[in-house]
Amino acid sequence: MQNFKSQIVESGKRMLSEGLTVATWGNISIVDRENGLVYLTPSGMPYASLTTSDIPVLTLDGKVVEGTRKPTIEKDLHLGIYNNYDYAGAVVHTHPKWSMIFATIGKDIPLICDEAAQILSGEVKCAHYALPGSKELANECIKALKNANACLLQSHGTVCVGRNIDDAFSVATVLEYTAELYYKILSMGEKPHELKKEDIEYMYEFVHTKYGQK
Ligand SMILES: [Zn+2]
Repeated sequence: MQNFKSQIVESGKRMLSEGLTVATWGNISIVDRENGLVYLTPSGMPYASLTTSDIPVLTLDGKVVEGTRKPTIEKDLHLGIYNNYDYAGAVVHTHPKWSMIFATIGKDIPLICDEAAQILSGEVKCAHYALPGSKELANECIKALKNANACLLQSHGTVCVGRNIDDAFSVATVLEYTAELYYKILSMGEKPHELKKEDIEYMYEFVHTKYGQK
């Protein structure tokens, strides 16, 4: 059986070490579809010192079934994603620098390079503004995720969805990489070459069905 609590603890450290967040910002969750349970990071605790006993476990309708820590204030956003998107197995919410630039100005991030096309399933939309932790933010985020497996939250951060936690980290890493490239291209006064829709679909499909050793 997978140890989802350890995966959350390790992922918190990974989010810090990979520069995807600072301090206690951001949050992570993993869903166990078989048992209908969601494992989340606790609210406002430093990632470096988290242990498995700090990880709250909730049902998909939000009842706490295990743990004494308060779950992340963005629990409705995480639960909403699992309840709306069957493919979702893990969610990483971060506030990384380059993506934040686009989130603050409310600008969508297009798929400007092959890596983006292979890992992000569509143009990354910026959700309308709503207060952190609100049901409205969860709803706006779910709407923006109709377009891709990642979105921006206006003036706040990113939400990256994967089939599992490694996949969610790939989405988060490639989104931040793409945002940095896009920022620099725009700063040069240039425009990226536009990838064709059919090429984007081909690359995404290829990477998810034929690439690698499996
Ligand atoms: Zn946040």
